[in-house]
Amino acid sequence: MTFDDLGLSPKVLQAIADAGYTTPTPIQEQAIPYVLMGRDVLGCAQTGTGKTAGFTLPMIDILASGRARARMPRSLILEPTRELASQVAENFEIYGKHNKLSMALLIGGTSFVDQEKKLDRGVDVLIATPGRLLDLFERGKILLADTKILVIDEADRMLDMGFIPDVERIVGRLPKIRQTLFFSATMPPEIRRLADAFLMNPKEIAVSSPTSPAETVVQGLVRASAQPKDKRATLRALIDREAVASALIFCNRKRDVGILYRSLKRHGYSVAELHGDMAQPVRTSTLKSFKDGEVELLVCSDVAARGLDIPKVSHVFNFDVPVHAEDYIHRIGRTGRAGRSGLAFTLTTPADSKLLAAVTRLIGRRIDEAPAAAGGSRPGPAEAAPELPPEVVAEAEPTGPARRAKVNGRTKRGEARGKAKTPKGRETKGRREAKPDSTPSRPTKSFGDHTPAFMLREVKLAASA
Ligand code: AMP
Repeated sequence: MTFDDLGLSPKVLQAIADAGYTTPTPIQEQAIPYVLMGRDVLGCAQTGTGKTAGFTLPMIDILASGRARARMPRSLILEPTRELASQVAENFEIYGKHNKLSMALLIGGTSFVDQEKKLDRGVDVLIATPGRLLDLFERGKILLADTKILVIDEADRMLDMGFIPDVERIVGRLPKIRQTLFFSATMPPEIRRLADAFLMNPKEIAVSSPTSPAETVVQGLVRASAQPKDKRATLRALIDREAVASALIFCNRKRDVGILYRSLKRHGYSVAELHGDMAQPVRTSTLKSFKDGEVELLVCSDVAARGLDIPKVSHVFNFDVPVHAEDYIHRIGRTGRAGRSGLAFTLTTPADSKLLAAVTRLIGRRIDEAPAAAGGSRPGPAEAAPELPPEVVAEAEPTGPARRAKVNGRTKRGEARGKAKTPKGRETKGRREAKPDSTPSRPTKSFGDHTPAFMLREVKLAASA
């Protein structure tokens, strides 16, 4: 199937061609014709499936006829986080470039003034986080009586973040006769109940099992000590041994994001932090520098990183096993995007057994234990040389394919280092050559006959390795 078969207008088709897309993704193929028909849609789809274009493309065509009235947006898209809302706005700009639709973005942390001016003139598309929208609504700045299309995106995340009462209040103020598009990565009973309340005879679309992580992501589990210091050392050892081009590192708590960020920075890594307490302009500029490759590592909380679309993330590290098992799927889905392969490592301590069991139940299988030293060794500053904690050392010297990957990884890492913008401190603090043979030789644990794809990657050996 091609985009031409979906019933979209020539202007939208042109924008799609300009974006370089040739084939609709499964969610686009299934959702677009129904949205164009005016049907409600209940979509069970993760980010990374192309669902944003799945609703924005037909919305642009629906909204192309008709005019917005002052303070009465014609369509409303609710997003759980500011970053996601901004990303959807970017999508509208890309796909709507040949149409003249007006759009406003209402997110916390940014100035109201410009957005209010836009609203006063009338907008076709309003993209908002629930709190900010209600705030404006209660101050009489916005009327929802003319909103004929409602999109509720990432509904399960709205639930996790406690936004559902706000969403219900907003929906209660919308016209009863409207088109509703409702998306969620997972469909727990609470979300299903909500969908039943908000949607009328929806077309149900599920593009992949909500419990299955992207197939392009190779997952590994790394045992770590519960001692924060040792756990951080385990993470550094892992980062050093992997050919990390660009990695997201997830922590469960904002406080720990800050602690880990400062620790990695002290150890000379090219790192930034992202969490919900940061001012919006700082969040935006941090994301930009990560997207632009100015920093290699981004330590973040789930809220900040939800749904981020950064195509070149090579690795995801779960510094903590997520509290909500579904977050595991979201987190590791930040890598392996757009058909690329990705690696996701989860650090687990003995205290995490229940959380890990919940993840295992959700994804329907155990995560293979990864040899923590599978990649190359990146020498750090002398005082910060990654001492492998015992549980990592136990798996540090894999044999067979794992051993090959280790050597390869180091070679690759070295090459990457040469090009990377590494902070001065790292270069000057004095590096220590890794001692690949100083750790005991042990066979790889728990992989059985399975050889993860990341161990089989073809990498040239440097002459000096
Ligand atoms: P989403 O799931 O909406 O976050 O989209 C994930 C990524 O897929 C974004 O970078 C989109 O630009 C990209 N994308 C969306 N639709 C297509 C398509 N039909 N072909 C190629 N890339 C796409």
